[in-house]
Amino acid sequence: MTTNDEFIARDLACVWHPCTQMKDHEAYPPIPIRRAEGVWLEDLDGNRYLDAISSWWVNLFGHANPRINAALNRQLETLEHVLLAGFSHEPAVDLAEQLVALTPEGLTRCFYTDNGSSAIEVALKMSYHYWRNLGEEKRTRFISLSNSYHGETLGALSVGNVPLYKEIYGPLLLEPVTVAAPDDYLRPRDEAPEDYLKRRCEEMESALEHHAGTVCAVIVEPLVQCAGSMRMYDPAYLTWLREACDRHNVHLIADEIAVGFGRTGTMFACEQAGITPDLMCLSKGLTGGYLPLAVTLCTDRIYQAFYDDYGTLKAFLHSHSYTGNPLGCRAALATLDIFAEDDIIVRNRELSRIMAESVAHLAGHPHIGDIRQRGMILALEMVANKTDRTPYAWRERRGQRVYRHGLANGMLLRPLGDVVYFMPPYVITPDEIRAMTRVASEGIDIATKD
Ligand SMILES: *Cc1c(COP(=O)(O)O)cnc(C)c1O
Repeated sequence: MTTNDEFIARDLACVWHPCTQMKDHEAYPPIPIRRAEGVWLEDLDGNRYLDAISSWWVNLFGHANPRINAALNRQLETLEHVLLAGFSHEPAVDLAEQLVALTPEGLTRCFYTDNGSSAIEVALKMSYHYWRNLGEEKRTRFISLSNSYHGETLGALSVGNVPLYKEIYGPLLLEPVTVAAPDDYLRPRDEAPEDYLKRRCEEMESALEHHAGTVCAVIVEPLVQCAGSMRMYDPAYLTWLREACDRHNVHLIADEIAVGFGRTGTMFACEQAGITPDLMCLSKGLTGGYLPLAVTLCTDRIYQAFYDDYGTLKAFLHSHSYTGNPLGCRAALATLDIFAEDDIIVRNRELSRIMAESVAHLAGHPHIGDIRQRGMILALEMVANKTDRTPYAWRERRGQRVYRHGLANGMLLRPLGDVVYFMPPYVITPDEIRAMTRVASEGIDIATKD
């Protein structure tokens, strides 16, 4: 038995892994990682894997980044944690100041939590509670987009729309109003992009009209629906949506948990639409992939609706034990320092270009129905029939074949269904990009050959 095998037996005896049918591990056991550096993970047997998906989209500047490590070591010597209710600390305040300065103009307050789903719960509760504080008690609903994903806790799951994660829990959930997403992949190929977008806007407009007075907010993932198979849409939709939300007097919640921190080519995806949401949720890349931390930013207008004498009972009485953890905030500050010192957003443009170039040969592939990219996210959609984009039957698990080919060739690719995508740490080199796309391309050939 190898070292890996011994360890795996211990793991499978007591750990229940996330988002996994554990029985799959009888054939394909989990991979024990003993160390990681830069884009590389190394298992107990010494095999190496390039982390092409940033360990579920969290890592930005590589594993064991010396600058983040140093900042964390220093923080560890002074303060590991203290409650944030009634107390405060430098990392939480420094980070809040910097986030207010970096995010779109008008977001002025940071409410900390410790994971993305919780940041969504906060946004939903804050929006509802805002209207309540204003005496608008009929507002209890949220509008969200088809194929959206906002996390796994019950509120966040409610406003999501990926049936695989949601359907079974249906009876437990809030009932949002679901409006068709402006997903460009679903645009009929003979319809002009402007006409398609207009149609999607009209559908949202009529939902806003139909549910007038009962909706708290519209919640969206700006530009890329990541968990929904990296489906993308035009920034013009967001620009329009901002204006529509204002006209109908409802909040706009931007879930930038996955797309924030440079993934789409700008620091935040909302920048490409030139908008400020009323509430913005951040997590994942916030700490450079080091520690669980999240934040919900809001406007002063929302904040002021809660600010009153205690006896009015308007306060937002939400908390998590690890709210604003100093180590998490310190990792986030070190991450923001790297963005500024190394001019990352500009440097990434070249990496994005190389990513595009290295998959260009797949455009004519008989089983690639779409190649789409926004900034540092690039996705390849495998289809049974290229002409009409017929999908493969899900039970065939074609994406799994690509995953396994990747692992056998030193590459951590983790397709979403039949969509193979790349969302690498920003420290990836051009050669590593080419290796990553080459292995993926071979995997796609193998997965689609019969
Ligand atoms: C990952 C994700 C979440 C949930 O974050 P967790 O930290 O996994 O709870 C919410 N929204 C989007 C867009 C995400 O990608």
